Order: sequence, then structure tokens, then C-alpha cells
Amino acid sequence: MSAPYADRLQRLRVSLAQSHLDALLVTALPNVRYLSGFTGTNALLLVTADEALLLTDFRYAAQVKLEVAPEARVVIEQSSLWVRLWSELRQLPRLEVIAFETAHVTHQDAARFVAADGEGAAWKWRPALNLVEVLRETKDDSELAHIRTAVQIAEHALARTLPRVKAGMSELEVAGILEYEMRHAGSERTAFETIVAAGERSALPHARASAHTINQGDLLLFDFGATSGGYVSDITRTFIVGRAPDARQQDVHDVVREANGSASGGVRAGMRGRDADALARDYIERRGFGAAFGHSTGHGIGLEIHEAPRVAKTAEAPLPPGAVITIEPGIYLEGWGGVRIEDDVVLTSEGPVVLTGFERGLVQL
Ligand code: ZN
Ligand code: ZN
Repeated sequence: MSAPYADRLQRLRVSLAQSHLDALLVTALPNVRYLSGFTGTNALLLVTADEALLLTDFRYAAQVKLEVAPEARVVIEQSSLWVRLWSELRQLPRLEVIAFETAHVTHQDAARFVAADGEGAAWKWRPALNLVEVLRETKDDSELAHIRTAVQIAEHALARTLPRVKAGMSELEVAGILEYEMRHAGSERTAFETIVAAGERSALPHARASAHTINQGDLLLFDFGATSGGYVSDITRTFIVGRAPDARQQDVHDVVREANGSASGGVRAGMRGRDADALARDYIERRGFGAAFGHSTGHGIGLEIHEAPRVAKTAEAPLPPGAVITIEPGIYLEGWGGVRIEDDVVLTSEGPVVLTGFERGLVQL
């Protein structure tokens, strides 16, 4: 049970040594969870060459015993985690250069490090970007198992929801059924705010479910996900309500489906994010809809709904083996509607494995 945490801490220590850092102060809660198992909402985690020190408050005194890996030493602090951090640091005399997560520290907290007359001035603080996020790109078996479960829950819930969708219902009603079914199947929470978007509203890539009424002949777009063991799924399907699609609806849907298949079948570990993005984008451009696909082809998923690696026009970094990414091309025509089809794909050394298997066709509800 503790094995993944020992391995993760070890990989971080290698990276700290390469960067000539004596320690990293982890403040991003998903990174704290990844390295220690702790799921509470108030924590500081200090990782040195030979120690992992987790500071949290009294509310979590019982929870840490259930969650935190034995590799981490837990300190329960009654008042200020920061004041306690300084006193703990003073007892670790070999520390000189300490990195902090520049993307996850408030300006108020950063001031504690850099103030020349503050307690933090006893150490050299270095801003560090994505030290833990890079490790999180490659999923281990336990993480993959959670993501697979989150996918199964989401697809099971969608299958239970679709037969109940009728013209005249609101997007919110449908989202409520879907979220109930995910909870019922074991989802800890929704992976993000569920999108159910009908008709013209399906042209808004980040629409939220609203009180808008679903009409016969509408495209109906679902973008949603479940959570298992903290890990999320992220799936989009687009259907048609109450009648067969017209020629344009079918044509746009076909183009998106082809683009999705081209990218999820063609993506490989080692490929730059921008080249994976182009697998979907080039197809959509060739079919004349390039201007209607304005977002990235995909993103990493894991403990967070959007995490590294990026699958975007500007992503130069290669996609590592073991990454789980989404492939989600879409076409959005303002005033008409939109289609998006999104799958979750794990990049293995043997090629891509698509985790989401739900019917991708323009099914009539
Ligand atoms: Zn999505
Ligand atoms: Zn997504």
C-alpha cells in the first residue's frame, strides 16, 4: 500500500538533486496527496533528501492515521502551520536551498519567504515550476485502475440516463439524473461541473447545464466525468433529440468523429503534444471547419481534470509513456450548435489504449 508513495518521493528526490535543491515545500493539495496520500484541505509538505514532513491541523489528527503513507512524518499543529514550519526547519540544519511551488503559492505566503526581516530569511528560497506535476504525468498501475473505474462509472451513468431524456426537459434536469447515476455507481464527486448543452448552446465549448429547455431536433452535448480514489474521467458525447439528424448535423458529427478517431488511434508516447494535436486539427481543417475548432485537442487527466501533459498547438513537450490524455476535437458554429467527442486514452509503450468505449455515433434519443 505504501509502495507508490516511496517510489514517488524517490523520483522527486532525484529531481531535487539534479536541480541542486535541498528540499521542496509542497503547497498544492493535489501534489500533497500524490506524494503522501493525504486528502485534507490544509497542509504543507516538506520533502528533503531523507525526510517527508507533513504539517496539518487538528481537524485531521484522526484522518492522517488512515491516509498518510508511513514514509511521511506527520506534525499536527494547533495554530499556524507556517510558524510551525519555521521551527521544524530550524531542527533540520543541513537545509540551505529550498524550492517552493511558484504556481501554487499566494503572494501573501511568498512574502513570508522573501521578506528580509521575516523568519523565512534563514533559508534561500527558489521558485520551482511543475517539479511534482511532471512526475504525475506518468501514471502507475494503481492510478490507472482508479481512472478506469472513473470511466466505467461515467459510462454506466450515461447509459442509464439517455433512455430518460425527452424533449421538454431542461438541461439541469438531465444533468441531475446523470449526476445521481454517477453517485449511485460510486463516484466520489463530479470531476467538474457537468455540461449538458442543447441546441444552439452546444456551440459553447464550456457551457454549463442551465434551465434551458431541450427541444426536438436539438443536438445534445454531454461533457462530464466521475471520480474514483481521487482520480477523474472526462468524456463527451453528442446526440440528437427526438428525430433523425438533418444532413448538416450528420456531416458535422461525422467530421468530429473522424478527427477523434484519427487522433486517438494515431497518438503515441514520445510524440510532441503539438503533433498529437495536429492529428485531429489537420483533419478538421481539411474538411473546412478549422475556424470552428478553437481549443486544444486534449489534456492530461489524473488527480486534476486538467493536468500535464498538454495536447495543444503550442505544446512542444513530448507525451510520456504512461500518460492519460483526453482526445476531444469539436466543431462549434455560433447560432447553430456544436459537436464534441471526447475520449480518455492511456499511452502505453505498445500504443494508445482508449479507455472510454461508449457509442460515439449520432444516436437519436
Ligand atoms: Zn470533457
Ligand atoms: Zn476534457
